[in-house]
Amino acid sequence: MPVYDYECQCGATTEAICGINTTEIKCRCGKTAKRIISMSGVHCGNTDDTTWARAAVEVMDKDSHNPIVRQFIKDPTKANLKKAMKAEGIRHMEPGERPITRTPFDLNRHTEKVMERHMEKGRIEVRG
Ligand SMILES: [Zn+2]
Repeated sequence: MPVYDYECQCGATTEAICGINTTEIKCRCGKTAKRIISMSGVHCGNTDDTTWARAAVEVMDKDSHNPIVRQFIKDPTKANLKKAMKAEGIRHMEPGERPITRTPFDLNRHTEKVMERHMEKGRIEVRG
């Protein structure tokens, strides 16, 4: 089942794995949190649009501070999606192209690289 974001009046956002028809869940505070993004909420004219809209939603940064992106997440209309896509530099998918997936940040590899650089630097400093 897909993961949806639910937003409460208290400002809390809850991520939950719910059925497509679950538009409301109970927030930690006890109030009702409403689903803020859903594929069924994106009204598109044809199948191709649905495909790229889904890809756009997947790559959209839900913690973005960009007001245009936040606006789209709150109100996922086609017009807002277009603006958000432009703001985030996301384009339509080419026919047959697979949805964009974010590469998870590899912390171990990153640390390794920094250490390598640090060691190299250290060696030069010792020699000088
Ligand atoms: Zn709440």
